[in-house]
Amino acid sequence: MSTRLYQRDIDEAEATDVLVVGSGPAGLAAAVSAARTGARVRVIDRFGVAGGNLTAGLVGPCMTSFSLDGRTQLVRGVFDEFVRRMEEQGGAVHPSRTKAGTQYSGFIRYGHDAVTPFEAETAKRVAQEMLLGEGVDLLLHTWAVDAVVEDGAVRGVVIVNKSGMSYLPAGVVIDATGDGDVAAFAGARFEKGRESDGLMQPMTLFFRIGSVDDEAVEEYKRQYPDELFPFQHLVEEAQASGRYDLPRRGVQLFKTMEPGVWRINTTRVNGVDGTDARDLTKAEVVSRRQVDVLMDFFHRELPGLEHCKLIDTAATVGVRESRRVVGQYVLTLDDLVNGTRFPDTIAVAGYPVDIHSPSGNAGPFDDGIPRTANEYEIPFRSLVPESVDGLLVAGRCLSATHEALAAVRVMPPSFAMGEAAGIAAAWGADRGTPVRETDTARLRSELEQRGAYLGASSDASVGR
Ligand SMILES: Cc1cc2nc3c(=O)[nH]c(=O)nc-3n(C[C@H](O)[C@H](O)[C@H](O)COP(=O)(O)OP(=O)(O)OC[C@H]3O[C@@H](n4cnc5c(N)ncnc54)[C@H](O)[C@@H]3O)c2cc1C
Repeated sequence: MSTRLYQRDIDEAEATDVLVVGSGPAGLAAAVSAARTGARVRVIDRFGVAGGNLTAGLVGPCMTSFSLDGRTQLVRGVFDEFVRRMEEQGGAVHPSRTKAGTQYSGFIRYGHDAVTPFEAETAKRVAQEMLLGEGVDLLLHTWAVDAVVEDGAVRGVVIVNKSGMSYLPAGVVIDATGDGDVAAFAGARFEKGRESDGLMQPMTLFFRIGSVDDEAVEEYKRQYPDELFPFQHLVEEAQASGRYDLPRRGVQLFKTMEPGVWRINTTRVNGVDGTDARDLTKAEVVSRRQVDVLMDFFHRELPGLEHCKLIDTAATVGVRESRRVVGQYVLTLDDLVNGTRFPDTIAVAGYPVDIHSPSGNAGPFDDGIPRTANEYEIPFRSLVPESVDGLLVAGRCLSATHEALAAVRVMPPSFAMGEAAGIAAAWGADRGTPVRETDTARLRSELEQRGAYLGASSDASVGR
Protein backbone atom coordinates (compact mmCIF):
# COMPACT_ATOMS: atom_id res chain seq x y z
CA MET A 1 0.00 0.00 0.00
CA SER A 2 1.33 3.49 -0.80
CA THR A 3 1.22 6.36 1.71
CA ARG A 4 -0.04 9.94 1.64
CA LEU A 5 0.90 12.80 3.93
CA TYR A 6 -2.23 14.20 5.54
CA GLN A 7 -1.95 17.27 7.73
CA ARG A 8 -4.58 19.53 9.26
CA ASP A 9 -5.42 21.40 12.43
CA ILE A 10 -7.93 19.65 14.65
CA ASP A 11 -9.95 20.85 17.64
CA GLU A 12 -8.40 20.33 21.05
CA ALA A 13 -10.79 19.48 23.87
CA GLU A 14 -10.39 20.66 27.43
CA ALA A 15 -7.84 18.45 29.18
CA THR A 16 -8.86 15.90 31.78
CA ASP A 17 -6.64 14.37 34.46
CA VAL A 18 -7.33 10.88 33.20
CA LEU A 19 -8.48 9.65 29.80
CA VAL A 20 -9.69 6.07 29.67
CA VAL A 21 -9.88 4.56 26.21
CA GLY A 22 -12.38 1.71 26.20
CA SER A 23 -15.30 1.15 28.56
CA GLY A 24 -15.18 -2.64 28.91
CA PRO A 25 -14.65 -4.27 32.31
CA ALA A 26 -11.16 -2.75 32.64
CA GLY A 27 -12.06 0.73 31.38
CA LEU A 28 -15.28 0.89 33.35
CA ALA A 29 -13.53 0.04 36.62
CA ALA A 30 -10.61 2.35 35.78
CA ALA A 31 -12.86 5.32 35.12
CA VAL A 32 -14.95 4.75 38.25
CA SER A 33 -11.93 4.34 40.51
CA ALA A 34 -10.04 7.30 39.02
CA ALA A 35 -13.09 9.51 39.55
CA ARG A 36 -13.41 8.28 43.13
CA THR A 37 -9.77 9.27 43.64
CA GLY A 38 -10.70 12.83 42.77
CA ALA A 39 -9.60 12.96 39.12
CA ARG A 40 -11.50 14.59 36.29
CA VAL A 41 -12.08 11.60 34.05
CA ARG A 42 -13.16 11.14 30.45
CA VAL A 43 -13.91 7.73 28.97
CA ILE A 44 -14.35 7.10 25.27
CA ASP A 45 -15.60 4.04 23.43
CA ARG A 46 -16.03 3.18 19.77
CA PHE A 47 -19.40 1.55 20.51
CA GLY A 48 -22.69 3.27 21.35
CA VAL A 49 -22.87 1.46 24.66
CA ALA A 50 -20.53 1.13 27.64
CA GLY A 51 -19.36 -2.30 28.78
CA GLY A 52 -17.27 -3.77 25.96
CA ASN A 53 -17.61 -7.53 25.91
CA LEU A 54 -20.01 -7.41 28.85
CA THR A 55 -22.58 -5.73 26.65
CA ALA A 56 -21.73 -5.30 22.95
CA GLY A 57 -19.90 -8.64 22.92
CA LEU A 58 -22.81 -10.49 24.59
CA VAL A 59 -20.11 -12.38 26.52
CA GLY A 60 -21.11 -14.14 29.71
CA PRO A 61 -21.28 -15.32 32.37
CA CYS A 62 -18.46 -13.45 34.12
CA MET A 63 -16.02 -16.24 34.82
CA THR A 64 -15.10 -16.93 38.40
CA SER A 65 -14.13 -14.09 40.71
CA PHE A 66 -13.30 -16.71 43.33
CA SER A 67 -10.31 -18.92 44.07
CA LEU A 68 -10.00 -22.12 42.02
CA ASP A 69 -11.48 -24.13 44.91
CA GLY A 70 -14.48 -21.79 44.93
CA ARG A 71 -13.99 -20.85 48.58
CA THR A 72 -12.75 -17.25 48.63
CA GLN A 73 -13.94 -14.29 46.65
CA LEU A 74 -10.77 -12.78 45.21
CA VAL A 75 -12.09 -10.03 42.94
CA ARG A 76 -14.22 -7.63 44.92
CA GLY A 77 -14.18 -3.81 44.75
CA VAL A 78 -15.82 -2.22 41.71
CA PHE A 79 -16.56 -5.66 40.21
CA ASP A 80 -18.56 -6.74 43.24
CA GLU A 81 -20.37 -3.42 43.34
CA PHE A 82 -21.24 -3.78 39.64
CA VAL A 83 -22.62 -7.27 40.21
CA ARG A 84 -24.61 -6.25 43.28
CA ARG A 85 -26.14 -3.31 41.43
CA MET A 86 -27.17 -5.65 38.61
CA GLU A 87 -28.51 -8.09 41.18
CA GLU A 88 -30.64 -5.35 42.82
CA GLN A 89 -32.25 -4.82 39.43
CA GLY A 90 -32.90 -8.54 39.00
CA GLY A 91 -30.22 -8.81 36.31
CA ALA A 92 -27.51 -10.98 37.92
CA VAL A 93 -26.87 -13.81 40.34
CA HIS A 94 -24.06 -13.13 42.79
CA PRO A 95 -21.20 -15.60 42.24
CA SER A 96 -21.37 -16.81 45.85
CA ARG A 97 -24.64 -18.50 44.86
CA THR A 98 -23.56 -20.38 41.72
CA LYS A 99 -21.82 -23.74 41.55
CA ALA A 100 -19.51 -25.50 39.11
CA GLY A 101 -21.02 -28.22 36.94
CA THR A 102 -24.44 -26.55 36.74
CA GLN A 103 -26.37 -24.93 33.89
CA TYR A 104 -25.02 -21.48 34.82
CA SER A 105 -21.44 -22.73 34.49
CA GLY A 106 -22.10 -24.52 31.21
CA PHE A 107 -21.82 -27.82 33.16
CA ILE A 108 -18.04 -27.28 33.34
CA ARG A 109 -16.38 -28.11 36.65
CA TYR A 110 -12.74 -27.06 36.38
CA GLY A 111 -12.46 -23.36 37.27
CA HIS A 112 -16.18 -22.80 36.90
CA ASP A 113 -17.29 -22.46 40.50
CA ALA A 114 -18.82 -19.08 41.35
CA VAL A 115 -19.43 -17.63 37.90
CA THR A 116 -21.73 -14.60 37.55
CA PRO A 117 -24.72 -15.00 35.24
CA PHE A 118 -26.09 -11.62 34.23
CA GLU A 119 -28.33 -9.98 31.66
CA ALA A 120 -26.57 -7.83 29.07
CA GLU A 121 -29.36 -5.23 29.15
CA THR A 122 -28.89 -4.75 32.89
CA ALA A 123 -25.13 -4.51 32.38
CA LYS A 124 -25.63 -1.75 29.80
CA ARG A 125 -27.73 0.30 32.20
CA VAL A 126 -25.55 -0.26 35.26
CA ALA A 127 -22.27 0.42 33.44
CA GLN A 128 -23.59 3.69 32.06
CA GLU A 129 -25.08 4.84 35.36
CA MET A 130 -21.98 3.96 37.38
CA LEU A 131 -19.87 6.11 35.06
CA LEU A 132 -22.28 9.02 35.02
CA GLY A 133 -22.86 8.72 38.75
CA GLU A 134 -19.16 9.39 39.34
CA GLY A 135 -19.24 12.46 37.12
CA VAL A 136 -17.23 10.81 34.34
CA ASP A 137 -17.39 12.52 30.94
CA LEU A 138 -18.69 9.66 28.77
CA LEU A 139 -18.10 9.99 25.04
CA LEU A 140 -19.49 7.13 22.96
CA HIS A 141 -19.24 6.44 19.22
CA THR A 142 -15.66 7.63 19.41
CA TRP A 143 -12.54 5.87 18.15
CA ALA A 144 -9.01 6.52 19.38
CA VAL A 145 -6.90 6.66 16.20
CA ASP A 146 -3.55 8.01 17.36
CA ALA A 147 -1.56 9.04 20.40
CA VAL A 148 0.55 12.15 20.87
CA VAL A 149 3.86 11.41 22.62
CA GLU A 150 6.23 14.11 23.87
CA ASP A 151 9.42 13.52 25.84
CA GLY A 152 8.64 9.81 26.04
CA ALA A 153 5.19 10.30 27.60
CA VAL A 154 1.70 10.08 26.13
CA ARG A 155 0.07 13.51 26.34
CA GLY A 156 -3.27 12.73 24.73
CA VAL A 157 -5.16 10.83 22.09
CA VAL A 158 -6.46 11.74 18.65
CA ILE A 159 -10.04 10.62 18.20
CA VAL A 160 -12.55 10.44 15.39
CA ASN A 161 -16.32 10.39 15.58
CA LYS A 162 -19.34 11.85 13.81
CA SER A 163 -18.22 15.31 14.87
CA GLY A 164 -14.91 14.87 13.07
CA MET A 165 -11.38 14.49 14.37
CA SER A 166 -10.14 16.08 17.57
CA TYR A 167 -7.50 15.82 20.24
CA LEU A 168 -8.15 14.81 23.84
CA PRO A 169 -5.25 15.85 26.09
CA ALA A 170 -4.90 14.14 29.46
CA GLY A 171 -2.53 13.91 32.41
CA VAL A 172 -2.50 10.11 32.16
CA VAL A 173 -4.09 7.80 29.59
CA ILE A 174 -5.33 4.31 30.40
CA ASP A 175 -5.41 1.96 27.45
CA ALA A 176 -8.36 -0.33 28.12
CA THR A 177 -9.03 -1.13 24.47
CA GLY A 178 -8.33 -4.84 24.90
CA ASP A 179 -6.16 -4.58 21.79
CA GLY A 180 -3.58 -2.17 23.20
CA ASP A 181 -4.43 0.33 20.46
CA VAL A 182 -3.20 3.42 22.30
CA ALA A 183 0.00 1.71 23.41
CA ALA A 184 0.67 0.66 19.82
CA PHE A 185 -0.02 4.19 18.51
CA ALA A 186 2.41 5.50 21.14
CA GLY A 187 5.15 3.14 19.95
CA ALA A 188 5.09 0.78 22.92
CA ARG A 189 6.47 -2.68 22.26
CA PHE A 190 3.92 -5.48 22.06
CA GLU A 191 3.70 -9.16 21.22
CA LYS A 192 1.05 -11.29 19.60
CA GLY A 193 0.18 -14.96 19.63
CA ARG A 194 1.79 -18.09 20.97
CA GLU A 195 5.54 -18.42 21.05
CA SER A 196 5.75 -21.35 18.60
CA ASP A 197 4.00 -19.75 15.59
CA GLY A 198 2.49 -16.40 16.59
CA LEU A 199 -1.06 -17.68 16.17
CA MET A 200 -3.68 -16.15 18.44
CA GLN A 201 -6.77 -17.65 20.00
CA PRO A 202 -9.80 -17.78 17.70
CA MET A 203 -12.58 -15.22 17.54
CA THR A 204 -16.14 -16.13 18.46
CA LEU A 205 -19.48 -14.49 17.77
CA PHE A 206 -21.70 -15.05 20.79
CA PHE A 207 -25.40 -15.64 20.25
CA ARG A 208 -28.43 -16.36 22.42
CA ILE A 209 -31.14 -18.91 21.86
CA GLY A 210 -34.58 -19.14 23.49
CA SER A 211 -37.30 -21.79 23.81
CA VAL A 212 -34.78 -24.38 25.01
CA ASP A 213 -36.09 -27.30 27.04
CA ASP A 214 -33.82 -26.72 30.05
CA GLU A 215 -34.79 -29.99 31.71
CA ALA A 216 -33.95 -32.01 28.57
CA VAL A 217 -30.48 -30.42 28.45
CA GLU A 218 -30.02 -31.24 32.13
CA GLU A 219 -31.13 -34.82 31.50
CA TYR A 220 -28.61 -35.15 28.67
CA LYS A 221 -25.83 -34.04 31.04
CA ARG A 222 -26.99 -36.59 33.61
CA GLN A 223 -26.61 -39.29 30.96
CA TYR A 224 -23.17 -38.09 29.82
CA PRO A 225 -21.60 -36.60 32.94
CA ASP A 226 -18.03 -37.07 31.73
CA GLU A 227 -18.21 -34.97 28.59
CA LEU A 228 -16.13 -31.82 28.93
CA PHE A 229 -18.71 -29.87 26.92
CA PRO A 230 -22.35 -30.89 26.47
CA PHE A 231 -23.31 -32.78 23.32
CA GLN A 232 -19.70 -33.67 22.61
CA HIS A 233 -20.31 -37.16 21.20
CA LEU A 234 -23.23 -35.88 19.09
CA VAL A 235 -21.04 -33.15 17.64
CA GLU A 236 -18.28 -35.67 16.91
CA GLU A 237 -20.71 -38.06 15.23
CA ALA A 238 -22.24 -35.31 13.06
CA GLN A 239 -18.76 -34.16 12.13
CA ALA A 240 -17.42 -37.66 11.38
CA SER A 241 -20.43 -38.56 9.20
CA GLY A 242 -19.99 -35.35 7.19
CA ARG A 243 -23.51 -34.19 8.05
CA TYR A 244 -22.22 -30.96 9.53
CA ASP A 245 -19.03 -28.94 9.49
CA LEU A 246 -18.92 -27.80 13.11
CA PRO A 247 -16.30 -25.43 14.52
CA ARG A 248 -15.80 -27.08 17.90
CA ARG A 249 -15.78 -30.50 19.54
CA GLY A 250 -18.82 -29.77 21.65
CA VAL A 251 -21.31 -27.02 22.37
CA GLN A 252 -20.35 -24.47 25.00
CA LEU A 253 -23.65 -23.17 26.28
CA PHE A 254 -24.47 -21.20 29.40
CA LYS A 255 -27.94 -20.83 30.83
CA THR A 256 -29.02 -17.26 31.47
CA MET A 257 -31.39 -16.17 34.23
CA GLU A 258 -34.33 -16.33 31.83
CA PRO A 259 -35.94 -19.82 31.58
CA GLY A 260 -35.16 -21.44 28.24
CA VAL A 261 -32.56 -18.82 27.24
CA TRP A 262 -28.89 -19.79 26.80
CA ARG A 263 -25.75 -18.03 25.58
CA ILE A 264 -23.83 -19.98 22.95
CA ASN A 265 -20.03 -19.69 22.84
CA THR A 266 -19.39 -22.11 19.99
CA THR A 267 -18.61 -20.32 16.73
CA ARG A 268 -14.86 -20.28 16.07
CA VAL A 269 -12.75 -18.45 13.50
CA ASN A 270 -9.05 -19.20 13.50
CA GLY A 271 -6.15 -17.48 11.78
CA VAL A 272 -7.52 -13.96 12.21
CA ASP A 273 -6.05 -10.88 13.89
CA GLY A 274 -8.26 -8.54 15.94
CA THR A 275 -6.16 -5.55 14.95
CA ASP A 276 -6.80 -6.02 11.23
CA ALA A 277 -10.11 -4.69 9.84
CA ARG A 278 -10.15 -7.18 6.95
CA ASP A 279 -9.68 -10.06 9.37
CA LEU A 280 -12.41 -8.69 11.64
CA THR A 281 -14.76 -8.48 8.67
CA LYS A 282 -13.93 -12.03 7.67
CA ALA A 283 -14.52 -13.21 11.24
CA GLU A 284 -17.94 -11.52 11.34
CA VAL A 285 -18.96 -13.12 8.04
CA VAL A 286 -17.64 -16.61 8.79
CA SER A 287 -18.98 -16.74 12.34
CA ARG A 288 -22.43 -15.53 11.25
CA ARG A 289 -22.55 -18.36 8.71
CA GLN A 290 -21.54 -20.75 11.48
CA VAL A 291 -24.52 -19.56 13.53
CA ASP A 292 -26.83 -20.74 10.74
CA VAL A 293 -25.15 -24.14 10.58
CA LEU A 294 -25.24 -24.51 14.35
CA MET A 295 -28.92 -23.56 14.53
CA ASP A 296 -29.75 -26.21 11.93
CA PHE A 297 -27.70 -28.79 13.84
CA PHE A 298 -29.38 -27.82 17.12
CA HIS A 299 -32.85 -28.23 15.60
CA ARG A 300 -32.16 -31.58 14.02
CA GLU A 301 -29.82 -33.34 16.40
CA LEU A 302 -29.68 -31.94 19.94
CA PRO A 303 -32.07 -33.00 22.69
CA GLY A 304 -33.75 -30.00 24.29
CA LEU A 305 -32.79 -27.66 21.45
CA GLU A 306 -35.18 -29.03 18.81
CA HIS A 307 -37.46 -25.98 19.01
CA CYS A 308 -34.96 -23.32 20.01
CA LYS A 309 -35.09 -19.87 18.42
CA LEU A 310 -32.27 -17.52 17.64
CA ILE A 311 -32.79 -14.44 19.84
CA ASP A 312 -29.79 -12.35 18.85
CA THR A 313 -26.13 -12.34 17.91
CA ALA A 314 -23.60 -10.00 19.51
CA ALA A 315 -23.02 -6.55 18.04
CA THR A 316 -19.42 -7.59 17.44
CA VAL A 317 -17.38 -10.73 17.06
CA GLY A 318 -15.38 -11.36 20.23
CA VAL A 319 -11.59 -11.13 20.16
CA ARG A 320 -9.93 -13.33 22.77
CA GLU A 321 -6.38 -12.26 22.12
CA SER A 322 -4.47 -9.64 20.16
CA ARG A 323 -1.66 -7.30 21.33
CA ARG A 324 -0.01 -7.99 24.64
CA VAL A 325 1.81 -4.81 25.55
CA VAL A 326 5.29 -5.56 26.90
CA GLY A 327 5.46 -4.03 30.35
CA GLN A 328 7.90 -3.71 33.20
CA TYR A 329 6.95 -7.28 34.11
CA VAL A 330 5.66 -10.05 31.84
CA LEU A 331 3.28 -12.32 33.76
CA THR A 332 3.97 -16.00 32.93
CA LEU A 333 2.28 -19.39 33.16
CA ASP A 334 4.84 -20.33 35.85
CA ASP A 335 3.67 -17.38 37.93
CA LEU A 336 0.11 -18.65 37.73
CA VAL A 337 1.02 -22.27 38.41
CA ASN A 338 3.33 -21.44 41.33
CA GLY A 339 1.18 -18.63 42.70
CA THR A 340 4.17 -16.27 42.63
CA ARG A 341 3.91 -13.54 45.27
CA PHE A 342 4.80 -10.03 44.08
CA PRO A 343 5.61 -6.98 46.19
CA ASP A 344 3.39 -4.88 43.90
CA THR A 345 0.38 -7.19 43.54
CA ILE A 346 -2.73 -5.22 42.63
CA ALA A 347 -5.11 -8.07 41.77
CA VAL A 348 -5.58 -11.72 42.69
CA ALA A 349 -7.51 -14.21 40.58
CA GLY A 350 -8.29 -17.90 40.38
CA TYR A 351 -9.58 -18.59 36.87
CA PRO A 352 -7.44 -21.23 35.10
CA VAL A 353 -5.72 -21.03 31.71
CA ASP A 354 -8.44 -21.15 29.05
CA ILE A 355 -6.97 -21.60 25.58
CA HIS A 356 -9.25 -22.19 22.61
CA SER A 357 -6.90 -23.80 20.11
CA PRO A 358 -5.50 -21.20 17.69
CA SER A 359 -5.24 -23.89 15.00
CA GLY A 360 -8.04 -26.42 15.45
CA ASN A 361 -11.27 -27.37 17.15
CA ALA A 362 -9.83 -28.35 20.55
CA GLY A 363 -9.76 -26.60 23.88
CA PRO A 364 -10.11 -25.18 26.34
CA PHE A 365 -9.02 -27.37 29.26
CA ASP A 366 -7.94 -30.42 27.20
CA ASP A 367 -4.48 -29.20 26.20
CA GLY A 368 -2.35 -30.52 29.06
CA ILE A 369 -1.65 -27.04 30.45
CA PRO A 370 -0.82 -27.49 34.15
CA ARG A 371 -3.34 -26.61 36.82
CA THR A 372 -2.96 -23.07 38.09
CA ALA A 373 -2.57 -22.23 41.78
CA ASN A 374 -5.69 -21.84 43.90
CA GLU A 375 -5.07 -18.11 43.66
CA TYR A 376 -2.43 -16.20 41.72
CA GLU A 377 -1.35 -12.58 41.60
CA ILE A 378 -1.06 -9.82 39.01
CA PRO A 379 1.64 -7.18 39.65
CA PHE A 380 1.24 -3.47 38.94
CA ARG A 381 4.32 -3.67 36.70
CA SER A 382 2.29 -5.73 34.19
CA LEU A 383 0.16 -2.61 33.64
CA VAL A 384 3.13 -0.33 32.99
CA PRO A 385 4.50 -0.27 29.41
CA GLU A 386 8.26 -0.79 29.56
CA SER A 387 9.26 2.35 27.68
CA VAL A 388 6.35 4.80 27.29
CA ASP A 389 5.24 6.93 30.22
CA GLY A 390 1.94 8.73 30.85
CA LEU A 391 0.22 5.48 29.96
CA LEU A 392 -1.10 2.42 31.78
CA VAL A 393 -2.70 -0.63 30.23
CA ALA A 394 -5.45 -2.64 31.90
CA GLY A 395 -7.50 -5.68 31.00
CA ARG A 396 -6.81 -7.94 28.05
CA CYS A 397 -3.82 -5.96 26.72
CA LEU A 398 -1.73 -6.31 29.89
CA SER A 399 1.83 -7.56 29.84
CA ALA A 400 1.60 -11.36 29.94
CA THR A 401 2.56 -14.40 27.91
CA HIS A 402 0.06 -16.09 25.60
CA GLU A 403 -0.66 -18.73 28.28
CA ALA A 404 -0.95 -16.37 31.24
CA LEU A 405 -3.18 -14.01 29.28
CA ALA A 406 -5.52 -16.93 28.60
CA ALA A 407 -6.35 -16.96 32.33
CA VAL A 408 -6.31 -13.32 33.38
CA ARG A 409 -8.15 -12.03 30.29
CA VAL A 410 -11.58 -12.85 31.72
CA MET A 411 -13.86 -10.14 33.02
CA PRO A 412 -13.40 -10.17 36.82
CA PRO A 413 -9.58 -9.79 36.74
CA SER A 414 -10.01 -7.14 34.04
CA PHE A 415 -12.18 -5.15 36.45
CA ALA A 416 -9.53 -5.56 39.18
CA MET A 417 -6.71 -4.37 36.91
CA GLY A 418 -8.79 -1.39 35.84
CA GLU A 419 -9.56 -0.43 39.40
CA ALA A 420 -5.86 -0.33 40.30
CA ALA A 421 -4.90 1.51 37.11
CA GLY A 422 -7.57 4.14 37.79
CA ILE A 423 -6.16 5.03 41.22
CA ALA A 424 -2.56 5.12 39.96
CA ALA A 425 -3.54 7.28 36.99
CA ALA A 426 -5.42 9.75 39.20
CA TRP A 427 -2.41 10.04 41.48
CA GLY A 428 -0.03 10.38 38.53
CA ALA A 429 -2.06 13.19 37.01
CA ASP A 430 -2.43 14.97 40.32
CA ARG A 431 1.17 14.87 41.49
CA GLY A 432 2.92 14.89 38.18
CA THR A 433 4.92 11.84 39.32
CA PRO A 434 5.34 9.49 36.38
CA VAL A 435 2.82 6.65 36.68
CA ARG A 436 5.66 4.16 36.29
CA GLU A 437 6.95 5.45 39.67
CA THR A 438 3.65 4.86 41.47
CA ASP A 439 4.11 4.09 45.16
CA THR A 440 2.80 0.53 44.96
CA ALA A 441 2.75 -0.01 48.73
CA ARG A 442 0.40 2.96 48.99
CA LEU A 443 -1.62 1.71 46.02
CA ARG A 444 -2.05 -1.69 47.65
CA SER A 445 -3.13 -0.08 50.87
CA GLU A 446 -5.64 2.13 49.04
CA LEU A 447 -7.04 -0.89 47.18
CA GLU A 448 -7.42 -2.81 50.44
CA GLN A 449 -9.23 0.12 51.96
CA ARG A 450 -11.63 -0.08 49.03
CA GLY A 451 -12.24 -3.75 49.79
CA ALA A 452 -9.73 -5.49 47.52
CA TYR A 453 -8.26 -8.86 48.37
CA LEU A 454 -4.53 -8.84 47.63
CA GLY A 455 -3.28 -12.20 48.84
CA ALA A 456 -3.27 -14.56 51.77
CA SER A 457 -2.07 -11.90 54.23
CA SER A 458 -5.04 -9.80 53.19
CA ASP A 459 -8.55 -10.30 54.63
CA ALA A 460 -9.93 -13.57 53.29
CA SER A 461 -13.25 -13.40 55.07
CA VAL A 462 -15.46 -12.88 52.03
CA GLY A 463 -16.25 -16.48 51.22
CA ARG A 464 -19.50 -18.31 50.73
C1 LIG B 1 -15.52 -15.10 22.56
C2 LIG B 1 -15.14 -14.70 23.94
C3 LIG B 1 -15.63 -15.41 25.03
C4 LIG B 1 -15.33 -15.01 26.31
N1 LIG B 1 -15.93 -15.64 27.36
C5 LIG B 1 -15.81 -15.08 28.59
C6 LIG B 1 -16.65 -15.49 29.64
O1 LIG B 1 -17.51 -16.36 29.47
N2 LIG B 1 -16.50 -14.89 30.85
C7 LIG B 1 -15.56 -13.92 31.08
O2 LIG B 1 -15.46 -13.44 32.22
N3 LIG B 1 -14.75 -13.51 30.09
C8 LIG B 1 -14.88 -14.04 28.85
N4 LIG B 1 -14.13 -13.58 27.81
C9 LIG B 1 -13.04 -12.62 28.06
C10 LIG B 1 -13.52 -11.22 28.31
O3 LIG B 1 -14.73 -10.93 27.68
C11 LIG B 1 -12.50 -10.16 27.83
O4 LIG B 1 -11.19 -10.61 27.84
C12 LIG B 1 -12.70 -8.95 28.73
O5 LIG B 1 -13.92 -8.35 28.36
C13 LIG B 1 -11.55 -7.98 28.64
O6 LIG B 1 -11.94 -6.74 29.17
P1 LIG B 1 -11.34 -5.42 28.57
O7 LIG B 1 -12.01 -4.30 29.29
O8 LIG B 1 -9.87 -5.51 28.58
O9 LIG B 1 -11.75 -5.44 27.03
P2 LIG B 1 -13.16 -5.35 26.28
O10 LIG B 1 -14.25 -5.96 27.05
O11 LIG B 1 -12.89 -5.88 24.93
O12 LIG B 1 -13.41 -3.78 26.20
C14 LIG B 1 -12.62 -2.96 25.37
C15 LIG B 1 -13.41 -1.73 25.02
O13 LIG B 1 -12.56 -0.84 24.29
C16 LIG B 1 -13.26 -0.32 23.17
N5 LIG B 1 -12.26 0.00 22.14
C17 LIG B 1 -11.39 -0.85 21.56
N6 LIG B 1 -10.59 -0.19 20.71
C18 LIG B 1 -10.96 1.12 20.76
C19 LIG B 1 -10.50 2.29 20.12
N7 LIG B 1 -9.45 2.26 19.29
N8 LIG B 1 -11.12 3.45 20.38
C20 LIG B 1 -12.17 3.49 21.25
N9 LIG B 1 -12.64 2.40 21.89
C21 LIG B 1 -12.03 1.23 21.66
C22 LIG B 1 -14.19 -1.44 22.76
O14 LIG B 1 -15.29 -0.94 22.04
C23 LIG B 1 -14.60 -2.02 24.12
O15 LIG B 1 -15.75 -1.42 24.64
C24 LIG B 1 -14.43 -13.94 26.50
C25 LIG B 1 -13.92 -13.23 25.43
C26 LIG B 1 -14.28 -13.61 24.15
C27 LIG B 1 -13.78 -12.81 23.02
